[in-house]
Amino acid sequence: MTRIIAIGECMVEMAPSESQGEYRMGFAGDTMNTAWYLRKLLPPSDHVDYLTAVGSDATSAKMTGFLEEAGIGTGQIARRDGLTVGLYMISLADGERSFSYWRGQSAARTLAQDAAALDAALDGADVAYFSGITLAILPDDDRARLLEALSKFRAKGGDVVFDPNLRPGLWPSSEAMTDAVMQAAAVSSTVLPSHEDEATWFGDADTAATAQRYVSCGAQTVIVKNGPDEMLAWDAGTTSTHAPVAAVKVVDTTAAGDSFNAGFLASRIAGQPLDVSINAAANLAARVIQARGALADVT
Ligand code: ADP
Repeated sequence: MTRIIAIGECMVEMAPSESQGEYRMGFAGDTMNTAWYLRKLLPPSDHVDYLTAVGSDATSAKMTGFLEEAGIGTGQIARRDGLTVGLYMISLADGERSFSYWRGQSAARTLAQDAAALDAALDGADVAYFSGITLAILPDDDRARLLEALSKFRAKGGDVVFDPNLRPGLWPSSEAMTDAVMQAAAVSSTVLPSHEDEATWFGDADTAATAQRYVSCGAQTVIVKNGPDEMLAWDAGTTSTHAPVAAVKVVDTTAAGDSFNAGFLASRIAGQPLDVSINAAANLAARVIQARGALADVT
């Protein structure tokens, strides 16, 4: 039995429905998307928990209910009176999607206020999964507290898995983002970056440069995702390249990276070799981007 704990922010998603001016409510968020796919892929004997904080309002209860229904453990979700959950709305103009966010009152920003609670949540887990967005929403002290807890968890043999998921809009400056991401990488055993973003914000010349930067701060495994292009993996000293699924008819790239990460981790947890796990991940991502929305029915 493997216990995975994903850490971050799940948000309310308002997506335009078929009828003009109407929206459909759903729930999504990078780390939650990965937890959701992991829950689909792993056998019932494995546990997937989501660590976050929500409010005490009806929408927060709905979100928790959604996670429970998906089979994701909610025992590590803190409830904060007076706060609520974040929300984003998707706008469609000429087929292009744009996003507006309301996350100022989001309880998830308080998920790392208590060091003892973090240690207790991680105790007994095998894998902790978090992202650059998890870091971005936290106040500086809380971010440091989370990284400290993850560092202790790793020292005790836990696998710390990190997707840098670079979102400069969530940070006061690009330097603040890149500094925090490298600090997070330094406590991580597995790093799952996407090359295009890394090239933009770190100036990496190629996928090997992205991998090397994370290896040099202590990661044992780095898989550099790369949209429709060749991926590069560095695993315990060996570098290999991997092709994505070819000629995919893209409908919506939302959650490509999130689902890839779930496919990779589920396969590794099942004891599969690296190349099989990367193939499984690429196949899942390819299916997800051929469907609309973050959470595609891939069963
Ligand atoms: P992110 O969604 O985090 O930006 P990427 O765009 O790098 O991540 O995509 C993650 C993975 O999804 C890729 O490594 C690849 O396996 C798959 N993928 C994304 N776009 C395509 C595409 N157009 N064709 C085939 N696979 C794709």
